Amino acid sequence: MIIDFHVHTAFYETTTKTYRDLIRRSYGDKMEAFLKTYSSPEAFIELMDQAGIDYAVILAELAPITTGIADNEYVAEFCSKSPRLIPFASINPYTISRPDQELERLVKDNGFQGLKLYPTYQLYYPNDAMIYPLYAKAQELNIPVSLHIGSSVFVGSRLKYGDPIYMDDVAVDFPDLNLLMCHSGRPFWYDNAFGIARLHKNVYMEISGLPPHKLLDYFPELETIAHKVIYGSDWPGIPTIKENIHAIKDLRLSDDAKEKILGKNAMRLLNVN
Ligand SMILES: [Zn+2]
Repeated sequence: MIIDFHVHTAFYETTTKTYRDLIRRSYGDKMEAFLKTYSSPEAFIELMDQAGIDYAVILAELAPITTGIADNEYVAEFCSKSPRLIPFASINPYTISRPDQELERLVKDNGFQGLKLYPTYQLYYPNDAMIYPLYAKAQELNIPVSLHIGSSVFVGSRLKYGDPIYMDDVAVDFPDLNLLMCHSGRPFWYDNAFGIARLHKNVYMEISGLPPHKLLDYFPELETIAHKVIYGSDWPGIPTIKENIHAIKDLRLSDDAKEKILGKNAMRLLNVN
């Protein structure tokens, strides 16, 4: 079982220049064709099949200052094509007065199965009181919350919001809420991310956007918390999902640890089998 816990849509309703530039650097003059192809879920499912991925978490993104907008409606429609595509909602607390009600609507009426927060793009600390109603609602609805925790290359990001230390408050105040630290504190705070994931039973390290062959350099004791580590690719920012997965399979870890990282831990959080 392989679950990719971190996939962005290729299609964004609006994108910022800095986001487009990054995609262009990866795809060159094939960018237009790429965007067109992968605005279709069928094409993405084909990519999943080639890489041996069973399920993928598809992330909405409401971050107009830094990357752009892939709205919840598009992601819901995209994921409606297959139960293997699992939609995660985006809510920007600066643009809505009752974010908790919005989350409830998206989960109950539109089938969203998790929430993605972007502190460094949406400009708040993960432990800001403004976000607490969202955590309370997610805990009540029994859905996981992924947060961008680490650096970003996009202009307008504020890196101070990406330090894993702020997850400590959230983990303590919402002990029954499963929290994922996407990018695991890249690159300044790997030790913080590891320490927080080891300490709190409800906090996971999600390793998208990290070069897999470097994982054991960043986290020499990864094996000891393999039950708290979750695979994600960060596609399309990382174009080569298949190679990415192979690199994890090649790591000097036990088979049991690799199985947990690539799928078993995620299965638990997403209630899939
Ligand atoms: Zn991402």
